[in-house]
Amino acid sequence: MSSTYNQLLDATIQHLEDLKARGVRHLAVTPETLRGLTQPPVMESQMGKAATIGAPSTASARKELEVYAGTVPGAPPNLSATPPSVAKQETLLSLPGETVPNTAPPLDPQAKTAAFAALRERALACVKCPHLVSSRKTVVFGVGSVDAQLMFVGEAPGADEDEQGEPFVGKAGQLLTKIIQATGLQRADVYIGNILKCRPDTPGQAAGNRKPTTDEMATCIPFLHEQIDLIRPKVIVALGATAVEGLLGKTIGITKLRGTWKTYRGISLMPTYHPAYLLRNQAMSEKRKVWEDMLAVMEKLGMPISPKQRNFFLKA
Ligand code: URA
Repeated sequence: MSSTYNQLLDATIQHLEDLKARGVRHLAVTPETLRGLTQPPVMESQMGKAATIGAPSTASARKELEVYAGTVPGAPPNLSATPPSVAKQETLLSLPGETVPNTAPPLDPQAKTAAFAALRERALACVKCPHLVSSRKTVVFGVGSVDAQLMFVGEAPGADEDEQGEPFVGKAGQLLTKIIQATGLQRADVYIGNILKCRPDTPGQAAGNRKPTTDEMATCIPFLHEQIDLIRPKVIVALGATAVEGLLGKTIGITKLRGTWKTYRGISLMPTYHPAYLLRNQAMSEKRKVWEDMLAVMEKLGMPISPKQRNFFLKA
């Protein structure tokens, strides 16, 4: 059986177990999806022909699987032209149902705190990526309020975060803190997490970071899904292309995506540039774009916006 299929099966089982542990007893699944899931898996050797588990028999099932496969909904599927390695990568990013709103009843505060603590314990003990386990100093679970209305999602911990066990504490993190403070909030008011909880290793390199692989993202993303399901923020800000890719499975550029509202499981999601990009590109116009995205977020949350805030990064 293909390793892609097994990874997906593991991730699905883990996700279902997590839901069950939180009291979810029923899941809505369309008949088409069910039919697709009961058909034999497509082997990796066949993936150049079809990058799905079982061929969906209707247009709606196909659309669901397109979203699931990380392609842009509405774009014509061109699976036969996709090289097997690319098709494999695209099938790993998100689970079916991530576009479906979370309808589970919210937990009471005590149960929520306990579930969050249990989730944290599981993440801290995770050894699913042996290469990252051997290189990491800490597991960077996340920081902030479990009752936050606003959640920021980044890519993965860097060296500073790995050292301190907290996301966004390095140079990019300090800029993110300034952005948060410019809205009138503090870090403790929001929740900050990453797609990956461990720092991507860089064997043979003394310094530097690398983008998480698709396999690493697929392995780690259930933790973030559960964090989001427990916190239930009103708005998620996805910082950079990798965060968008991990949450929505979209692979189109952040330049096109930023500033446009998306939805993740019924939650409004704003893609914007990663603060590290702003550190590399100091142009006022780029800072203004991120700030405009934050103004949209503040409006969505009903936060007060002063005339001074409205004019940040506009030329005099
Ligand atoms: N960049 C990220 O994406 N996340 C961090 O935690 C730090 C830097």
